[in-house]
Amino acid sequence: MSLPFRIGYGEDAHRLAAGLPLVLGGVPVPQAEAGAVAHSDGDAVLHAVADALLSGLALGDIGQYFPDTSEQWKGLDSRLIVQRALELVRGRGYAPVNVALVVTLDKPKLGPLRAEIAASVAQLLDLPGSEVGVSFKTSEGLAPAHVQTRVTVLLGRTEE
Ligand SMILES: [Zn+2]
Repeated sequence: MSLPFRIGYGEDAHRLAAGLPLVLGGVPVPQAEAGAVAHSDGDAVLHAVADALLSGLALGDIGQYFPDTSEQWKGLDSRLIVQRALELVRGRGYAPVNVALVVTLDKPKLGPLRAEIAASVAQLLDLPGSEVGVSFKTSEGLAPAHVQTRVTVLLGRTEE
């Protein structure tokens, strides 16, 4: 018997370096002095969202679908990664119900972007903005050149 709900969890982290853009949840962070070092666009929120979607149905992780050794995915818009993960979830007869995400970043303060990031992630997942909870933490100076994300997603069965 398959349950009507499944929990998914994902994490991601990127090193930050000066002069690079920082994008979180598809939203550019305008005050960022440093951005993510990455093969793709380095969107740590969307990478964790995609992994959370896949993990809820034990479909592996984004590294299997978008290997960072492939030239094909260099500079990739991470929204495409989430879209692919969502297609796989839907193909199994499930859809996201709600999302809880945590971003750990020392600088800049992200509070002013909370609603925008929630709306952006919600739109990608075809959810109302109210179904995406966004929390911000700092590392208290433990990892100042680092962005870390953690995401849980509840998946609900859409088909019998
Ligand atoms: Zn990443």
